[in-house]
Amino acid sequence: MAISQPIMMEEVTELQSYLAVPRDITLIAHRNPDGDALGSALGLRLYLEKKGHFVKIVMPSESPNIFSYLPHFYDVIVFDLRHDDARAALKEADCIFCLDFNGLDRVDKLGATIQQSRAVKVLIDHHLDPEPFVDHMFSDTEASSTCELVYNFIEEMGDAHLIDEKIGECLFTGLITDTGSFKYNTRPNTYNVAAKLKLAGVDDYKLNDTISNSLKPKNLKLLGHCLANRMEIMEEYGAAYIYLTKKDYSDFNIQRGDTEGIVNYMLMMKSIKVAAFITQQPSIVKISLRSKGDISVQKIASENFNGGGHKNASGGAQYGSLTDILDKFKRIIPDYLPKIEV
Ligand code: 5GP
Ligand code: MN
Repeated sequence: MAISQPIMMEEVTELQSYLAVPRDITLIAHRNPDGDALGSALGLRLYLEKKGHFVKIVMPSESPNIFSYLPHFYDVIVFDLRHDDARAALKEADCIFCLDFNGLDRVDKLGATIQQSRAVKVLIDHHLDPEPFVDHMFSDTEASSTCELVYNFIEEMGDAHLIDEKIGECLFTGLITDTGSFKYNTRPNTYNVAAKLKLAGVDDYKLNDTISNSLKPKNLKLLGHCLANRMEIMEEYGAAYIYLTKKDYSDFNIQRGDTEGIVNYMLMMKSIKVAAFITQQPSIVKISLRSKGDISVQKIASENFNGGGHKNASGGAQYGSLTDILDKFKRIIPDYLPKIEV
């Protein structure tokens, strides 16, 4: 099977000449950055700096500390903590790269700042249904991750030789986190990119160990609580959900990133095709959705929960009480999953 080449050549040629002189470039990814958002931004930063550009990274909100091994992790300008600096970094940029998101609502109030900016805007992303708010779009919804696309972008720019171990570590991080360590979302090109990054010196064993085996006792206790006390199974539809209340957040001292991955446990049950993780946040209720095979949780998230994402992994949020969203989830599931005889 041919390895797909996701990046469009004409777009790259235009950017090659635009980026032939040093530019002030700001990179931004989605709120609640994950391994792919961080890895793509930090990896692209190192590459652009090697090319002589001046690069800043803005994230709408803080990043989980498990990714603090990534170079320049602590140099990210976090909008929630530094409103003015984040806005200035976008306003003063010649060029803005939007990474791992494809709709301006994913970067909170910074969406308006991006829209008003006169910078050349470039998008590199793999989510479904991209919005047309940029000048150059590298969107490939078949890609495992934005990191996979950043690799191909650098390659198409003619600069694969600039990818060193550090850039490789950043990009490999997104490959690992967005594929669950190569369990889903892969295509031949994903492995091709992984192989090239490994050749560049990436120690994938060490990276996997750092990312996967980083839990603290409180994380496992929280997981136990979720599975034992907060999980409901809708056996007749092959759906399951876990919810967390405000009190759970304080009882378990839950911090950013502590609930990462819990939603996936429900899919370990053979009969479960859709899993939801529903949490009461200070002002909204957030829902994380996962599915198996052909069932699209992107459809469920966009049609019911102001959200989106990918076919098998999506999210959304709404105002209202935890009970409201739990009731809604239970009510709409029969519209998406056929009833099974149990
Ligand atoms: P998670 O459940 O891990 O927060 O997110 C899963 C996927 O859905 C990610 O690709 C993420 O970008 C996307 N996603 C999560 N929350 C939202 C949301 O509120 N809106 C949209 N459009 N996508 C989301
Ligand atoms: Mn991603």
